[in-house]
Amino acid sequence: MPTKLDMAKFAKFCKDMGFVFQSSEIYGGINGFWDYGPLGVELKRNIKEAWWQDMVRNPPPGPDGQEIRMVGLDCSIIMNPNVWVASGHVGGFSDPMVDCLKCKKRFRADKVHFACAVVDSAPHAISVEADNATDAEPLLKEKIAKLDKKKHPVGRALKAAAQLEYHSATALPASWPRPCPAEDCDGTLTEPRAFNLMFESHAGPIASDENKVYLRPETAQGIFANYKNVLDSSRLKLPFGIAQVGKAFRNEINPRNFTFRSREFEQMEIEFFCHPNESRKWYEYWRDLRRQWYSRLGLKSENLVPREQGQEELAHYSVGTTDIEYMFPFSDEPQELEGVAHRGDFDLSAHSSRSGKDLKYFDEEGWNALLQARLEAFKDDKAKREEEKKKLEKEEKAQFQFVPHVIEPSAGADRFTLAVLCEAYTEDTAPDAKGNPETRIVMKFHPRLAPIKAAIFPLVNKDGMDEEAKKLYRELKPFFNVVYDQSGAIGRRYRRQDEAGTPFCITVDGDTMKDGTVTIRDRDTLKQERIPKSEVRKVLEKALSPV
Ligand code: ATP
Repeated sequence: MPTKLDMAKFAKFCKDMGFVFQSSEIYGGINGFWDYGPLGVELKRNIKEAWWQDMVRNPPPGPDGQEIRMVGLDCSIIMNPNVWVASGHVGGFSDPMVDCLKCKKRFRADKVHFACAVVDSAPHAISVEADNATDAEPLLKEKIAKLDKKKHPVGRALKAAAQLEYHSATALPASWPRPCPAEDCDGTLTEPRAFNLMFESHAGPIASDENKVYLRPETAQGIFANYKNVLDSSRLKLPFGIAQVGKAFRNEINPRNFTFRSREFEQMEIEFFCHPNESRKWYEYWRDLRRQWYSRLGLKSENLVPREQGQEELAHYSVGTTDIEYMFPFSDEPQELEGVAHRGDFDLSAHSSRSGKDLKYFDEEGWNALLQARLEAFKDDKAKREEEKKKLEKEEKAQFQFVPHVIEPSAGADRFTLAVLCEAYTEDTAPDAKGNPETRIVMKFHPRLAPIKAAIFPLVNKDGMDEEAKKLYRELKPFFNVVYDQSGAIGRRYRRQDEAGTPFCITVDGDTMKDGTVTIRDRDTLKQERIPKSEVRKVLEKALSPV
């Protein structure tokens, strides 16, 4: 990946290739919504399938070498609104926002940063919008430098100040002024306030308050709401995980950075339920496993940064959270790809108290083991045994009934797709048809994620080569997403596949007709090997193997 990518150029490339289109572009688009084109949809499907395969169907052994129990779920997007009251999304926490009283623009409070100083006993401040404090400081300095010292009292004061203080809107003391960060606006911002990012709709024909429903802002709550159904129907024992892939909607104030912050996106979430005493161990397991998964699928380790959140950053329910961050080329700072959160018993307890349903887990095995051990001494005395059992039920049984703790690895399918696209994008040189070096764009996708696994070409469309190539294509098609291409010079055909990120190009040539071998070209090394055509399937299977 180039250290910096021109995102406008990159977005155009993604559009031209059929990876990502702006939603409803023929009408001028709609901010925060994206469509995946023919190559993009394959890439994203492969990402979701790799996640499902590696996390749900075949997760690696747990911290003590044990098998991991994982099951899937597919919940409705619209749920009973009580779900969102219990989760705190309605009426409770959400990103605090600030509004400008003059220009009416709304900003996320943690993204507005102030430089402040008291000069001649008066507080002065100036603000900019930036992702974090590090990005904000040079912008603030630049803005101050540009202020007209003579006309602008704030500019005069701030330039004269010996020392500046920096705060985000969430941390700015109430006594400081709160100027709007928008260009050409001298308005004042409100105090930060909770703003609900959920899209609203109505279930039924009448748009009344009683019929109000929400498009889910995360898939997680559907899992919590179904925790008991899953437990009762599958007879799972702790620890176990429930996984879901699905759409989520957030009315983001400022969608930006291509698909990175969208208003409609897909999540791949796991809620892993465990005994409270074991939660730290499982938190560490998932944190490490999830990071490794990204590396295994081609994100370079140096571009992946796990960042354990500080106490002040933690969501109110979280005991610990690690953001797995990625160096997206549109930012100098790594940005969140996935959050692995230790959520304690917050969610199940909240749903239990709102719904009135008991969501405690009963560790039957543990309880039976205790009974057996303690009643052994009274095995020949039925009355004593009953008496002891009653005592144990009163004094000890409660410890086997508890609300499980939850570890939540929550990934964004679109963010990972964007990371994969950025990481894969490479410009290098490859020989053209005459052997002269030319610049090529090549998408170096991991074969498991590549939209097309192999392209099959006849060298020329005669002497039976086209028929032979088509035959091979038809043999491979039931097993892999392969394409057949016979149009244009062979060099041009290679280039097209390089840009689509196809790992292998298989060519049927004169020798194929004589000895049944084909050439197989590796996208990255450009090496061509001659192999029997009967071996092609095995080569592809090996490259696509998840293990
Ligand atoms: P951010 O701080 O970037 O808004 P978040 O902490 O609110 O993200 P979570 O609620 O933890 O995100 O959601 C889990 C994952 O869902 C994120 O790591 C990200 O991959 C994805 N995600 C969240 N919001 C968006 C969005 N607006 N667009 C695309 N993906 C998103």
